[in-house]
Amino acid sequence: MKASRRKFLRLASLSAFALASGVAALSGEAKAQVAPGRYVKREGGLSAKRWAMVIDTRRFKSEADYAPLIQACNKAHNVPNVPGDRNVKWIWTDSFDHVFPDDMNNHLNTAMRNKVYPLLCNQCTNPPCVRVCPTQATYKMADGIVAMDYHRCIGCRFCMAGCPYGARSFNFVDPRKYLASPVPNPEFPTRMIGVVEKCNFCVERLNEGKLPACVEASNGALLFGDLEDPNSAVRQALAANYSLRRKPSLGTQPGVYYLI
Ligand code: SF4
Repeated sequence: MKASRRKFLRLASLSAFALASGVAALSGEAKAQVAPGRYVKREGGLSAKRWAMVIDTRRFKSEADYAPLIQACNKAHNVPNVPGDRNVKWIWTDSFDHVFPDDMNNHLNTAMRNKVYPLLCNQCTNPPCVRVCPTQATYKMADGIVAMDYHRCIGCRFCMAGCPYGARSFNFVDPRKYLASPVPNPEFPTRMIGVVEKCNFCVERLNEGKLPACVEASNGALLFGDLEDPNSAVRQALAANYSLRRKPSLGTQPGVYYLI
């Protein structure tokens, strides 16, 4: 074997060893600690086996009634006010036909059909967005919340293609340019261009023992609680009322329920 070839092989094996050690160190680190940007349940925070939301749409007479919820959410999460079709949304409203396209009842009460309904991430039990994310930037927590680690998002938008509810927004422009100064909530991270975002069921507020911002602003029209607890407000509301979930035939098992 020529000296130059031997030298090359020695260098290659040293590089491979260094790479393997680095990977081992990285995976050891990943096991030892949570990746930056991921939520960890805090002691003293609110906890549940499976968080769920029940929206009593009968309490909302017009689109304007949803404005306080949307404002509370936008403020809590520094959601930028980007005009036009590049807007970013965590909660928004749409027509009955768009919210419940599976409903085949052509003779539904006209008032119900003509109302608008609020939309947000459904925090699905089987979230396709999590399955398709190549970097695990979006992940499901033990209590059912589907959260985002903005540091890991590479902006591939697979999650947007995977979500059958259009619940995710992409930052086509620098969102920080569309935020009030000072930022509405300095405690919550602002995002950067090229990153996807969505509702997170206010996991950061639950960690502080607070209910989601929209629930707090809803005057009792939005209920939030543990779906696994038969005594929770959400279970009692579901037991006593007729409810719908969005696109149930897809098998995603949304954690957001609508009383209509
Ligand atoms: Fe993911 Fe969309 Fe379900 Fe939210 S609604 S968990 S973004 S699939």
